[in-house]
Amino acid sequence: MNLIEAKHISKQFVVQRDWLGRPKKTLTAVDDLSLTIGQGETVGLVGESGCGKSTFARTLLGLYAKTGGSIRDIADRAVGRDYRRHVQMIFQDPYASLDPRMTVEDIISEPLRNYHLCADDRQRRQRVASLLEQVDMRPEAAQRYPHEFSGGQRQRIGIARALAVDPECVFCDEPISALDVSVQVQIVNMMQRLQQERGLSYLFIAHDLAMVHHMSRRMGVMYLGRLVELGPGDAVFHDPLHPYTQMLIASVPRPDPHYRRRTIVCGEVPSPLDLPKGCVFHPRCPYADEVCRIDVPHFRQVADDRFVACHHARGGRR
Ligand code: SF4
Repeated sequence: MNLIEAKHISKQFVVQRDWLGRPKKTLTAVDDLSLTIGQGETVGLVGESGCGKSTFARTLLGLYAKTGGSIRDIADRAVGRDYRRHVQMIFQDPYASLDPRMTVEDIISEPLRNYHLCADDRQRRQRVASLLEQVDMRPEAAQRYPHEFSGGQRQRIGIARALAVDPECVFCDEPISALDVSVQVQIVNMMQRLQQERGLSYLFIAHDLAMVHHMSRRMGVMYLGRLVELGPGDAVFHDPLHPYTQMLIASVPRPDPHYRRRTIVCGEVPSPLDLPKGCVFHPRCPYADEVCRIDVPHFRQVADDRFVACHHARGGRR
């Protein structure tokens, strides 16, 4: 059963207005993107920096107003206060996402207060202590300030804050990219444990493909605001259909000396303010032909549970 259902989401930002204040130039950060997140499922989203992953997550959470499309949760709620209680977010930067003037107890208590989830201060303090223990921190940490902790500990505090309102789904926006590798493993293991204990769903966003594959049951690949491939994590990682996914997979370091890289694609990502016509990937694609330069490829199903936006991709390898 789908916990979150996003259909045809688009998000545009006005970057220039005329003298009457009317939009003159817009930047499309997310373009016609549909995605579902099932109960207890982890859906991974990958793509290069600036491809719109974080904007999509923030739009899904209601931090940005969508330009088009619809978002509903399992109880058919649109984005609003009740919806947000069940959908929380873990942010990328554990240094910027915690208010340095608040104690850890105040930070974790804030959502509890906002949603009136505790009868009195004693119950609230007990809840904060329990949440800290769930993220492997000592309850005494509650009286300290964020600057007294390492990056990994701050991210644990951010996770405790996200879990305070007992959400069903957590959007994880690059939750480990600012951390050391050894700490990344600890945080990922903890997130998987919490998922099992609480039956959580995750939207896991990262540019580390191997980590997204490790975490996700299904995996989506974004390029310039569009979803170009979606399918089971193993299938997308081991048998990518879209040339862009093949390029990303080829760039993952492999310890196997006999591993042969399949596709190396060069070139820069085009400006989102001046997108190429047809398939937006065609200036970098080794398979591009005349059709690709003219027609926009539709996001279509090519096999069981596999979707791709490419004129020439079929159900199997190229
Ligand atoms: Fe490459 Fe054409 Fe497919 Fe775009 S539609 S990814 S240019 S083959």
